[in-house]
Amino acid sequence: QGRIEFDAVTFSYGNQRNALVNLSFVIEPGQTVALVGESGAGKSTALALLYRTFDPDSGTIKIDGIDIREIKLDSLRGNIGVVFQEAMLFNRSIAENLAIGAPDATKEQMVQATQAAEAYDFITRSANGFDSVIGERGRSLSGGERQRLSIARAMLKDPPILILDEATSALDSGTESKLLRALDVVIKNRTTLVIAHRLSTIRGADKILVLDHGKLIESGTFDELMALN
Ligand code: ADP
Ligand code: ADP
Repeated sequence: QGRIEFDAVTFSYGNQRNALVNLSFVIEPGQTVALVGESGAGKSTALALLYRTFDPDSGTIKIDGIDIREIKLDSLRGNIGVVFQEAMLFNRSIAENLAIGAPDATKEQMVQATQAAEAYDFITRSANGFDSVIGERGRSLSGGERQRLSIARAMLKDPPILILDEATSALDSGTESKLLRALDVVIKNRTTLVIAHRLSTIRGADKILVLDHGKLIESGTFDELMALN
């Protein structure tokens, strides 16, 4: 479950240039695929189309053989966990932020998820712990802390499809490698699409797709792509 298929997808933001041109690829259920390419290559656009922030101008995107335009938006998004570089957190308690996407999560599950995401320590350091409010008057979190919290949130949601958009790039490489090991558990058996720059992050992917100016120019394993150069 969680097979993703892009078939001849073309999209433009309304200007002359196409952000994606005739993009086709398949991600088999449980595979981890890394999207790489220079800034402006179309990586974030591909993710936005999968999440239906926008729809393609032409071509189709399917999940498990179903055109995503035929899937109810709530249901589509309920099946996709997203961790962005800019963690989206709200002016609410840490617990409430964690429970977005997993309203029934127990305290114990929150503890587990935040421990796995290396977020438990900075949460418990605060006087009110999970109840402390994030935001101007509450607890201020560093970029890395925000990101670890949003990774814990995705772990709690436990969706069949996971999108990591520069999810670990604000972390120092020591914290990142610890987190990647924790993420391994989450990523296993889950269709995962990763956008990352660090070679260490993309090395373990089952397949790497290289985008350039909206086009797929190479695809293969890390070793296959290295052999080309
Ligand atoms: P990447 O994620 O690989 O850096 P993007 O998908 O963000 O690339 O961008 C692909 C192309 O679409 C670029 O030419 C970029 O300038 C353009 N683009 C991205 N977002 C917008 C937007 N909101 N409005 C107009 N153009 C955009
Ligand atoms: P940042 O996220 O700040 O751009 P990273 O730490 O993720 O940087 O990347 C480390 C270095 O690897 C950067 O200097 C970047 O230019 C380079 N890099 C980025 N993408 C790739 C890639 N696909 N293959 C090889 N090197 C890359």
